[in-house]
Amino acid sequence: MRIVDCHVHTKGPASAAEIVKRMDANGVDRMLVISQCERVSLAKTRENLLATKKLFDEAPDRISGLAWVTPTIDGIIDLAAEALGEMGFVGIKIIPDHFFVYEERLEPFWAKLDELRAAILFHTGILYGHEDGSRFCKPLYLEKMFYYPNIRFAMAHISWPWCEESLAVMGRMRSAHRSDPDHPYQSYIDITPGTPPHIRKQALTNAIDFCGSERIMFGSDDCVPSDLSYQREVLEGDLKLFDEIALDEQQQARILAGTADEVFPPGG
Ligand SMILES: [Zn+2]
Repeated sequence: MRIVDCHVHTKGPASAAEIVKRMDANGVDRMLVISQCERVSLAKTRENLLATKKLFDEAPDRISGLAWVTPTIDGIIDLAAEALGEMGFVGIKIIPDHFFVYEERLEPFWAKLDELRAAILFHTGILYGHEDGSRFCKPLYLEKMFYYPNIRFAMAHISWPWCEESLAVMGRMRSAHRSDPDHPYQSYIDITPGTPPHIRKQALTNAIDFCGSERIMFGSDDCVPSDLSYQREVLEGDLKLFDEIALDEQQQARILAGTADEVFPPGG
């Protein structure tokens, strides 16, 4: 079965050939790798983007890039556009890090991404890092994306501990589409861990029951360079849960690859 990992971080220079070897060992066909985080500097953001571009250019059929941009950096709009254009990133990664997605000052940024029909992977849920940043990462704040209907977005980590809140956002975005068919159904859930073992099975079951497997994508939160053993561990754990909750082959194929391939298609 085809497997796409939609959520892999980069933490330094990595060899595409080495990564592909590890992916093969894990049975993973494609990975979305996220450029390194930069919170203040435009120049450093560009440097990080170019490092990730180098990686996916070496194995474009196996590795794609998500451009991590911080919307509050001066000049970031043009760089985000360049990342999705000339640089060849398939999407944008954002952590709402001491800004709220709904703030007026960010509206030109979202308008540009809307114009570019961008796909965004948002960190949602508790944030282990970035000081007291978790309070900015509640899924409800992404309702702002309603005003930018050409943007598609995924909420990472099933937004734990706000799993139910992320389902409420799914319901809200679905309802916007149902009441106006011209308004796309914009939202998705990335099931990358965060949910601790005692809640994971229930959180997955609830998400699948509420939005269907076609809205859900698999991710590991592993990073490169590494031996990708954590990716294998997450994959094995999720496959076991999929069997326990009796997902059929079609549902599993959709979660494991179909959704991410549709939202973040190879080649942008
Ligand atoms: Zn992550």
